[in-house]
Amino acid sequence: MISITSKEMCCGCAACEQRCPKSCIVMREDEEGFLYPQTDMSKCIDCGLCEKVCPVLNQGEKRKPLYVYAAKNKNLQIRLHSSSGGVFTHIAEQIIQNNGVVFGARFDENWAVKHDYTETLEGLAAMRGSKYVQSRIGSTYQQAKDFLEAGRLVLFSGTPCQIRGLKLFLAKEYDNLLTVDLICHGVPSPKIWRQYLHEIIATGGGDIQIPSCGPTSQITGINFRDKTTSWQSYSLRFTLRRETGSGLPETADISRIHYKDPFFYCFLSHVMERYSCYACPAKELKSGSDITLGDFWGFRGTKDFPDDNNGISLLLINTDQGSKYITSILRSEQSYEKVIKQNLMITASLIIKDPRRDTFYKAVAKSSLHRESKKLWLINKIKRYANRLADIALGNGVRWHIAGICAENGTDAARARSHTHSPSR
Ligand SMILES: Cc1cc2nc3c(=O)[nH]c(=O)nc-3n(C[C@H](O)[C@H](O)[C@H](O)COP(=O)(O)OP(=O)(O)OC[C@H]3O[C@@H](n4cnc5c(N)ncnc54)[C@H](O)[C@@H]3O)c2cc1C
Ligand code: SF4
Ligand code: SF4
Ligand code: SF4
Repeated sequence: MISITSKEMCCGCAACEQRCPKSCIVMREDEEGFLYPQTDMSKCIDCGLCEKVCPVLNQGEKRKPLYVYAAKNKNLQIRLHSSSGGVFTHIAEQIIQNNGVVFGARFDENWAVKHDYTETLEGLAAMRGSKYVQSRIGSTYQQAKDFLEAGRLVLFSGTPCQIRGLKLFLAKEYDNLLTVDLICHGVPSPKIWRQYLHEIIATGGGDIQIPSCGPTSQITGINFRDKTTSWQSYSLRFTLRRETGSGLPETADISRIHYKDPFFYCFLSHVMERYSCYACPAKELKSGSDITLGDFWGFRGTKDFPDDNNGISLLLINTDQGSKYITSILRSEQSYEKVIKQNLMITASLIIKDPRRDTFYKAVAKSSLHRESKKLWLINKIKRYANRLADIALGNGVRWHIAGICAENGTDAARARSHTHSPSR
């Protein structure tokens, strides 16, 4: 029977819940809002199946990709609506055109993030774009299995731990399955996201009450990676609508560049990720996925493959099955050794848990994400100045951290903390 002795030991994939033959496991939110399994011991027959499908207990082998590319979709509109180069849509369209089914993360009617499937090209729009909140897997592993058994082509996309959970749940290889995961630095909780949505509706998430915000307003659109100001300087954009009583509803866009948005700022400061993300069980391609996608930060365009700042994906093709679906896409071959130095989240977890991580959720619940992000910003600023002074006084490579973390000598941990998926903080 699965037993969570430490929160780092569960990534919330729900494979155990779906596998249990007696339905005695239920995923429930903890006080931070992350899902963990709870077992009804009176129904458990001690069959051990829940442990066999757990991606933390059964980690895969470390791998290296077969091919590495900088890649972009030929369709500029698709690229502009995708987080990086729109490679996910390139692959997913081929699956749908071959009468297949695509699983991925989408918003539900309350703007919570959940996994779902689509059988249409139009249905892909909801899955396009990163949602930086942990998605609820629900019963999608079982649904994917049913489609696979019926002979349908299936694409399942998600975080590496979700893909590992799926593979263990399926317990055998399927020729008609394609798995795509993301370079993943971690996920915030659905609860903190809900709180932020309330703040957006109430005030716009800032100090000044924004017209169109208030109790009667509704969110009608969210884009975590709005590229209006460019791919590298992306913004988190909310669209709101409010009935005015005059028959003409008022609409407004609240858009802040990522490092100025309270939610994104805290996310990129690593104080609100799930505990398992600080000890990720699926780094170094251990998920077993066919394809891995990320942002190709730091890519310098070439004459044949220019960077127009509308998004470039880092594309890792890990299996022969994966290479079948990379067809009419613009790409330029790269060296893996170089790429893992630029994008540390392929191999490294958020190694050092920020000391503020444990108190952050409690503090936000008592005040607001907006206020706590301001405090965090101030502390980070003081730390940065102190580090600079220490660098000057003691020479490069030695950094004294005010929060008591002490010296970090240019280790992977130090770099992973400062360089995740944000190019311009
Ligand atoms: C939580 C999270 C953290 C990430 N961290 C990094 C990082 O540190 N470095 C980096 O290079 N790239 C990171 N990425 C990946 C990056 O943001 C892009 O998703 C990736 O480059 C693919 O972009 P695209 O343009 O090809 O397709 P897009 O259309 O942008 O990708 C959509 C795909 O992402 C999936 N997806 C979206 N939200 C979620 C979610 N919450 N959970 C599971 N799957 C989801 C969809 O199912 C779909 O498959 C992260 C993505 C997520 C969701
Ligand atoms: S041991 Fe078997 S019955 Fe018990 S919780 Fe796990 S899967 Fe369910
Ligand atoms: S990681 Fe997945 S399978 Fe393992 S305990 Fe957590 S929810 Fe269950
Ligand atoms: S960092 Fe690892 S554990 Fe956390 S969501 Fe991503 S793949 Fe899962």
